[in-house]
Amino acid sequence: MAKISIDDSLCTGCGLCSSNCPEVFEVGDDGLAHVISEKCDSCDIKEIAEQCPVNAISVG
Ligand code: SF4
Repeated sequence: MAKISIDDSLCTGCGLCSSNCPEVFEVGDDGLAHVISEKCDSCDIKEIAEQCPVNAISVG
């Protein structure tokens, strides 16, 4: 299974990832995106990672 991680120093909390896939990403009260699940059956996480404007999401 892919390991999804977010670089806190890059994330701006824009919410794009969480609106693309709320099952995996959530923007917390700290204004940063967090991974709340390692997988989603209906989303392509790599594609969502590529859409992050600051490239904060890595899927490895
Ligand atoms: S898309 Fe990128 S910058 Fe925006 S909330 Fe998600 S991880 Fe952070």
